[in-house]
Amino acid sequence: MNIKEKNYWLETVAEPAQGATGSLPDKADVAIVGGGFCGLSAAWTLAQRGVRVVLLEAETLGWGASSRNGGMVLPGLKLPVPTLIKRYGREIVRQMYNASVDSIDLVEKIVCEEGIDCNFGRCGQLEVACKQSHFDAYAAAAARIKQEFGRELRVVPRNVLGSEIGSQIYYGGLVDEISASVNPARYVHGLAKAAQRHGACLFDHTRVTQVTKQSNGTNGSFRIETTRGALTTKEVFLASGAYTSAATPALRKKVIPIGSYIIATEILPDVLAAEVSPRNRMIYDSKHFLYYYRLTPDNRMLFGGRAAFFPESESTVRESAELLRQGMVEVYPQLRDTKVEYIWGGTLDFAFDVMPHSGKIDGMHFALGFAGHGVAAATWMGAKMAGIICGDRDDNPFSRIAFPGAPIGLRSGHTWALPLAGAYYKILDWLT
Ligand SMILES: Cc1cc2nc3c(=O)[nH]c(=O)nc-3n(C[C@H](O)[C@H](O)[C@H](O)COP(=O)(O)OP(=O)(O)OC[C@H]3O[C@@H](n4cnc5c(N)ncnc54)[C@H](O)[C@@H]3O)c2cc1C
Repeated sequence: MNIKEKNYWLETVAEPAQGATGSLPDKADVAIVGGGFCGLSAAWTLAQRGVRVVLLEAETLGWGASSRNGGMVLPGLKLPVPTLIKRYGREIVRQMYNASVDSIDLVEKIVCEEGIDCNFGRCGQLEVACKQSHFDAYAAAAARIKQEFGRELRVVPRNVLGSEIGSQIYYGGLVDEISASVNPARYVHGLAKAAQRHGACLFDHTRVTQVTKQSNGTNGSFRIETTRGALTTKEVFLASGAYTSAATPALRKKVIPIGSYIIATEILPDVLAAEVSPRNRMIYDSKHFLYYYRLTPDNRMLFGGRAAFFPESESTVRESAELLRQGMVEVYPQLRDTKVEYIWGGTLDFAFDVMPHSGKIDGMHFALGFAGHGVAAATWMGAKMAGIICGDRDDNPFSRIAFPGAPIGLRSGHTWALPLAGAYYKILDWLT
């Protein structure tokens, strides 16, 4: 295979956002660590509210998961609604679910208001059932979502699934029409430029190495050391996702970095593209160790999955290319001779309870745990946390749930536990 080990999306960004040149200011009101959807949406919001905000990104703007993902703008949470209600109670779950729906509207609003050219479109999502038992559960899941949140999802039986997907291997599907698609790299770079236009100061190639809380009488402040110098701020917002480092050790212990990989094929002829995805949906299957896939705006098949559980490295990226190609051909035998042109990987930010979390840790604001739902959720969370930093009422449901750390013996921040997680999910797929 003659594949570029490169992120296809980045090749479509004509003029990437650039960080500020020169040295850091000595002082700011708020420092944000991380320049992905979460940090940039916070910077975009804070700048519009007149706050002196400095964003610090270790690599290039949007370098993390935000430019590497599938570009699926999805509502809902990873866990099933009955599990969530049992765990947290009905009222808080309603707030979480409503936030997830609002988050798609927020992405659309930003894209429209800021004129970001990123192929945003409300194409809807399709979940496909890998087993009869998975399909049998769809009707109950749709009924529960209707009952709890008043939203209509549509169950698609196997005999009419051909109108949704050109694959014979599934037992049926579940459609949610509100989901959208986006080119994530164009979106994240557009968001960065929008934040800059509103006055946010974004520094790339600036790694935060240490944050120290200082007490000056009643007003605390933070001293932030970076590879470009130091600054003092009143507030810090940690938006470093799966790439959270030893600079903020308490948060790092709470995140499991999990690798996910994507291939993109050559451009498909129009007829073949229409055959594999007649409604151009954002598609994912019902397994724990799942595949997610979609057409790109120029009609490539973009096919992703957790082919390896480790965060991306040269070897996991290369091994994943062939595993994902095999997966794609199982789903779509008609793509057997289609060339794969790109492979890349990224790291997902999972919390131990598979939930997004926000709040304060060591006196700093934080938000992470978006897993595979971060395009919309991280955008919403960044804006929400920015409002709270400005003094808005804290009605964020994700700040009111417990944030568990690693179970005894499984230290996060190290990858040695991840094959166990991978094996666990594979066994779960076999059993359920
Ligand atoms: C392959 C893949 C596919 C995905 N597909 C989808 C999808 O289709 N739909 C969906 O909704 N979600 C998807 N996701 C998840 C989604 O991309 C993430 O949840 C989201 O981008 C998280 O945004 P973020 O801003 O929190 O983190 P990131 O975008 O990861 O940004 C964090 C940034 O913090 C920086 N950083 C870390 N430490 C420091 C430091 N000490 N100093 C300075 N900077 C630092 C990093 O360099 C990084 O750029 C996918 C993720 C991956 C990896």
